[in-house]
Amino acid sequence: MELDSDNLSQLREIVYGAPCRITVVSHTNPDGDAIGSSLAWAAFLRSHGHTVECVVPNRFPYFLEWMPNISTLRIFKDDKKGETAAFISSSEVIFCLDFNCIDRLEGLGETIQANTNARFVLIDHHLDPPEGYDIYFTSPAYSSTSFLVYQLICALDGEQAIDKEMGENLFVGMMTDTGNFSFSNLSADLFETVAALVRRGLDIPRIHSLVYNSFTVDRVKLLGYALNKMETLRVNGTGIAYITLREAELRKFNFQQGDSEGFVNYPLTVRDLHMSVIFIETRNFIRISLRSRGDVDVSRFAKVYFGGGGHKNASGGKSYKSLPETITYFRKCLREYFGEAEQ
Ligand code: 5GP
Ligand code: MN
Repeated sequence: MELDSDNLSQLREIVYGAPCRITVVSHTNPDGDAIGSSLAWAAFLRSHGHTVECVVPNRFPYFLEWMPNISTLRIFKDDKKGETAAFISSSEVIFCLDFNCIDRLEGLGETIQANTNARFVLIDHHLDPPEGYDIYFTSPAYSSTSFLVYQLICALDGEQAIDKEMGENLFVGMMTDTGNFSFSNLSADLFETVAALVRRGLDIPRIHSLVYNSFTVDRVKLLGYALNKMETLRVNGTGIAYITLREAELRKFNFQQGDSEGFVNYPLTVRDLHMSVIFIETRNFIRISLRSRGDVDVSRFAKVYFGGGGHKNASGGKSYKSLPETITYFRKCLREYFGEAEQ
């Protein structure tokens, strides 16, 4: 994939320019790609003499705690002294990684938007980037932001600029955002990138195990419980599964942030199921994750009915109704979206 040369030359001015204060920010409920891409990009900028802080709105899941340099990440919600806000306010450049809508960062978003002097750079792979950034690197053709960051660093400084720690961080993003290299957005370039990392000593089984085989007993039991609750239906020939989890149910399994990550993928291991949705009750709303395969577009579904969005085969949204009301509404939406009566 070609990187836009105008944007690249503007980026060069920042990277090779006079040392400055730079914030690298990523999304709420940060995942492997958000953290991996941000930490690697921040390390790259520091290697050019810049003063860089990496910020996320809230905590990351415990199975990512081992990631190189994760202790340098600033959690905006935990910053009671306002040091992070002060750094953001005085930043000359703000890089937004793995999301494109600053409005979705809540309190952190307001702090970022209050800095009207900074240059804003978007490095992302979600659909529909809004206007307002000064420099754009964004295309849904990239399977992860980490893969895009890898390409950017190579275009700027060459592959040797990616050290072992950066490589590990970027690999986590490439692996997790592609469902361990199984989703439909894989490319030969991605596997060539992985090959280059392996040649330089990246230990894939170790990283895979650290991410995917590091859960608690409670988490595995919650998964079993959730799968037992799975409901399935067919609407005009499309097989759909959904799972609901209430706050009280989560509490019973000592729920920790990140525990439900990936649950939504399991129903798609059933043949003839094309769409999977999980509804997770939180204090203020119901968080909805959607996955699909083939032509079923859950990004549009999330956008039209649940004020959300994402990618064609992986999206999310919210509902402010009660859980039973949300499910009734959801089933009605399915009938409308797929065009006919339930079977
Ligand atoms: P997840 O189910 O992993 O939380 O999210 C899947 C995808 O949907 C991610 O790419 C994420 O950015 C997107 N997504 C999740 N929630 C929302 C939302 O409320 N609004 C939009 N526009 N995208 C979302
Ligand atoms: Mn991503």
